[in-house]
Amino acid sequence: MGNGKELILINTIGLEKYVAGVVQSEVFGSSHEVEFFKIQAIISRTYCLANLNRHASEECNLCDGIHCQAYKGRCNQADILRGTFESFSDVVVDTTNKLISTAYHSNSGGMTESAGNIWQRDVPYLQSIADTFSVGARNYLWEKAIPKKQWINYFVSNYGQEYVQPEYQEKILDFQQPQRIAKWVIGQDTIPTKDIRTAFKLRSSYFSVYPKEDEVILKGKGYGHGVGLSQEGAIEMVNRGYSSTEIICFYYLNAKVIKYTDIIDF
Ligand SMILES: [Zn+2]
Repeated sequence: MGNGKELILINTIGLEKYVAGVVQSEVFGSSHEVEFFKIQAIISRTYCLANLNRHASEECNLCDGIHCQAYKGRCNQADILRGTFESFSDVVVDTTNKLISTAYHSNSGGMTESAGNIWQRDVPYLQSIADTFSVGARNYLWEKAIPKKQWINYFVSNYGQEYVQPEYQEKILDFQQPQRIAKWVIGQDTIPTKDIRTAFKLRSSYFSVYPKEDEVILKGKGYGHGVGLSQEGAIEMVNRGYSSTEIICFYYLNAKVIKYTDIIDF
């Protein structure tokens, strides 16, 4: 192996069974509607076909870990198999018919994030959009208390000694983020909110900060990086009667759902 064309050795049934297995491995629970599983199947199929050479040096196409897509074996859930079958060979492409990068996350917090802000690579179909469908879902809100000392220390050790001064502390102890911002500007410093997310293992980078005695309370929205499709938003859209294609086109701007056989010549 080594080039995409040799994937042809895997037949269509193999691909679809793989996709169903991935959906079962990556989606929690089995209570979702078939329409939601169709979305997950389309996303997984698109990812698979767009990344056929990811493990070319190891003579396989994809690994079974989260590096590629979690695959824990064959799917045995009827609704997932149905969703996979009903979206048979469907993939998502951009305006140039290129397979897209189907980023997704658990909940956008009411506003998705642009890929450019998270991965330093602007992608026309991964832009920030208002997403009211995610509002109120299970992972919409979160809260975390962090010792004030630890919070201040983060800024002192990463951005400098000035953060021991009261005027700097005022800023980092009381901060509102009504709309997503990728970078928090304090004095001369530009602090990526995603770095704070990583450092404190936060559910999202979409948070506000409130001082409370010897702690700071972080009140956040959403779960995940926020780029692309919000799973909980998509579930709500399914409940309101939107089709899988409509939902995909809502989260991936100007994208289209087509059969991969229309663009990949096997
Ligand atoms: Zn991999």
